[in-house]
Amino acid sequence: MNYNKVNKFILSELINICGEKDVIVDKKRIIDYSHDEYIKPDENTFPELVVKPKTVYEISKIIKLANRNLIPVTVRGGGTGLSGGAVSFCGGILLSMENLKKIVEVDKKNFMATVESGVTLQEFAKELEKHNLFFPPKPGDEYAMIGGMIATNAGGARVVKYGTMRNLVRGLEVVLPDGEIINVGGKLIKNSAGYSLLNLFIGSEGTLGIITKAIISIMSRNVNTLTILVPYDNIDSAIKTVTEILNTKNVPVSIEFLELEPILLTEKLLGKSWPVKVGKAHLMIVIDNKCGECVNEQTEHISEICNNNGALEIFVAENNVKQKEIAEIRSNLYESIKNYVVEILDIAVPPASIGDFVNELHQLEKKYSVWLPTYGHAADGNVHTHYMSGKYFNGEIIPVPENEWRSKRDLVVEEIVKTGISFGGSISGEHGIGVTKINFMRSMYSEKYLDLLKKIKTVFDENNILNPGKMIPSL
Ligand SMILES: Cc1cc2nc3c(=O)[nH]c(=O)nc-3n(C[C@H](O)[C@H](O)[C@H](O)COP(=O)(O)OP(=O)(O)OC[C@H]3O[C@@H](n4cnc5c(N)ncnc54)[C@H](O)[C@@H]3O)c2cc1C
Repeated sequence: MNYNKVNKFILSELINICGEKDVIVDKKRIIDYSHDEYIKPDENTFPELVVKPKTVYEISKIIKLANRNLIPVTVRGGGTGLSGGAVSFCGGILLSMENLKKIVEVDKKNFMATVESGVTLQEFAKELEKHNLFFPPKPGDEYAMIGGMIATNAGGARVVKYGTMRNLVRGLEVVLPDGEIINVGGKLIKNSAGYSLLNLFIGSEGTLGIITKAIISIMSRNVNTLTILVPYDNIDSAIKTVTEILNTKNVPVSIEFLELEPILLTEKLLGKSWPVKVGKAHLMIVIDNKCGECVNEQTEHISEICNNNGALEIFVAENNVKQKEIAEIRSNLYESIKNYVVEILDIAVPPASIGDFVNELHQLEKKYSVWLPTYGHAADGNVHTHYMSGKYFNGEIIPVPENEWRSKRDLVVEEIVKTGISFGGSISGEHGIGVTKINFMRSMYSEKYLDLLKKIKTVFDENNILNPGKMIPSL
């Protein structure tokens, strides 16, 4: 597709729509919008300008203008994504959702909230706390926005008990690529009326429409929580434990698996201490319940399962301060290795296969003499593996010569992806495809499947103006 550049006429139209304050043309300010948490800014990632609309009507006018003039539009939420989805690689307009900030309604009778898509997870959680309610999905960065979370079908640690965004989003207001505004779904738990456009928009990564408002399920808070850390000698015993825990009456909120090296680096980064020092593979199990006694019973039951499966020790954090400290270390694992991360993989395999998959990753580490720090959401089979430009040694990361890591990069990453797929896995459990995984789509899907994706995209976005170059190969 040959796109047009933003000319003086279009710029003045955009200023008419949004007001001068909310149209950014200054390169020094645009830099903040030219990256996400994985892609770093460079000359290829700068949009021509940034607009910050305040209403759905402004967005509709911007999109009509862009469509008429064949200008590409990239939507940006919190920019916390890890796959380059919110980064513009073809100039055009970067549409930031940061000014759509209203929490329109907290409906306690239906346990649903209506929220504009620029509300951050942190802001939403704060508001819900006032009502003793909560919203379970928890990607690692609290600055993620509701719209971005819906567009990536975000998950996080609590999926095992509460599901992904797809399980919780009930209705959406969307601006289509021709500027029309539509509403899909509603305050409904059940809806079998035809194809689900709602589900099509969830996980569409800004390629089919701009999500401006959402109706989402919320829950009453389980005030009693407890965190259990369990170290093992090897990943197999850890995963066997997970399968058994999932067969118990009360499912934990989360069961994360972590390996020792990233934990040690994060302790050092934060100056905080992970309470367990032994074992190579650790499980971090969080449970919650309205009834305090039930939490204790559940802890006893889980501890018994862990002990029967070779746990080296069981550490139970009851007080909030210790639980927060553990959660903080878990949340910062990525931060501790980030400077040396070359590729982030987000493969999801059937949960019972995680142990075998991680063992294969360790074989690849040996075969190619690389370090692949890996951790993830054990209970839902989602593994985050990182290809690095450094190696772990004695509590720090030592850089590997550039020619060495570059020469192995494609081979190793391809083998990881193929291995994941051979377990019946997906190339993305929760981060989405964006640009970073677009080349793996052909490894996962048949030509027929990809052809259907292309046709769906064309039905919505004939001129391919919304987030071009993302998710679907050769479009
Ligand atoms: C340390 C760290 C840990 C993380 N852990 C997790 C995790 O555990 N689980 C998880 O799921 N994610 C995780 N993430 C990734 C990230 O936080 C999620 O992908 C999040 O959902 C992105 O939200 P965002 O608002 O920042 O979206 P952005 O990065 O701004 O955008 C992501 C995609 O959504 C599109 N988009 C954004 N807003 C809209 C909208 N209103 N309408 C249509 N399309 C839109 C963009 O075009 C882009 O394609 C982590 C990130 C970091 C930095």
